[in-house]
Amino acid sequence: MSTSRISARVQRIKPSPSSAASDRANELRRQGKSIINLVVGEPDFDTPAHIRAAACTAIERGETRYTANAGTPQLRQAIVDKLQRENGLSYATSQVLVTSGAKSAIFNAFAATLGAGDEVLIPAPYWVSYPDMVLACEGEPVTLACPEENAFKLTPAQLRDAITPRTRWLLLNSPSNPTGASYSAAELRALADVLLDAPHVLLMTDDIYEHIRYDGLDNPHILAIEPALSDRTLVVNGVSKTYAMTGWRIGYAAGPADVIGAMATLQSQSTSNACSVSQAAAVEALNGDQQFVKDSVQVYQERRDSCLDLLNGIDGLSCRKPDGAFYLYVNCSGLLGKTTPQGKRLDSDYDVVMYLLESQGVAVVAGTAYGLAPFFRMSIATALDTLEQGCSRIATAVAALN
Ligand code: PLP
Repeated sequence: MSTSRISARVQRIKPSPSSAASDRANELRRQGKSIINLVVGEPDFDTPAHIRAAACTAIERGETRYTANAGTPQLRQAIVDKLQRENGLSYATSQVLVTSGAKSAIFNAFAATLGAGDEVLIPAPYWVSYPDMVLACEGEPVTLACPEENAFKLTPAQLRDAITPRTRWLLLNSPSNPTGASYSAAELRALADVLLDAPHVLLMTDDIYEHIRYDGLDNPHILAIEPALSDRTLVVNGVSKTYAMTGWRIGYAAGPADVIGAMATLQSQSTSNACSVSQAAAVEALNGDQQFVKDSVQVYQERRDSCLDLLNGIDGLSCRKPDGAFYLYVNCSGLLGKTTPQGKRLDSDYDVVMYLLESQGVAVVAGTAYGLAPFFRMSIATALDTLEQGCSRIATAVAALN
């Protein structure tokens, strides 16, 4: 018997690296240092007033008790309507599970389907939580490097080569955290063709950033392109990013009845239903006025353009234009090998990130955490003047290197 009282399952995983970077930035701030925190992955806007009002009404109406485990009928219907209206996907309400955030939907899906050693294909760079969630569910994350030359996207050949008899899932996140890369209809068609030849592979689409996309780019869904994949695809989404509702914790999954049923059973024996008041707010978010989405995306786009100009003007840094999401994934290979004024050589993106934080108080996250180095991720979910100040401090830090 193991001498540790912590399970082997949990010993395989680590806390989120973006929280670690944020913790260090907060510690320096407490010490009185001026910090520009560009770590956070959440909108800086308040939840729109009409959504907050719907929550208040729900409280006044006494909607403060347990709801159905899988979600209120109103919210599940609103999700079915949304998937039809926005994505061209048809589901019955019984194929929808409301969860406490999209994160919980993804975790539940892995917990409900993975056996020891089952492989999950994760294109890298990836959202930091994916590999650890797979590990926590006793699966094996298989990361597939998607370099900048390929616009940070998975190619059909790569996918074909990576599939083994143990492959349980392919995870697609478009637009992506951290790169903002999004797949075109033709690229999705080509990936779908590979999946059609591998009927044992399930597909999870993490669509959490689907509305945050720029330059009028459309957002095809792989299932609308290839409906034959619908009996093995789990669509994951939520209201956190689109409606500035990160704290409300409402996500959802839609998919085949057996997978949704298993996830619902697991949820019934773990967290139970998502918060009743938040569910009422999410109904309003999905069914109500959508102007906030347009306005906020416009603001993110202005920030993206302005930061891209500033960062690409710094010798040693370069950044590809993201199609969506609210991050910039900045290539810092040009800084490696340089020396700080304190005489420390920068050997990795982690060294670069620590140098930016300690010298100029700019907090960003090392690309190593997202599975592709040397880069750093900078969130643009912050006011433009703060972002401009951040870029100018980065320029000062870089100019001081030898
Ligand atoms: N998926 C991706 C790619 C994310 O970046 C995040 C949050 O950062 C989530 C899922 C989780 O979203 P939620 O707040 O709904 O749990």
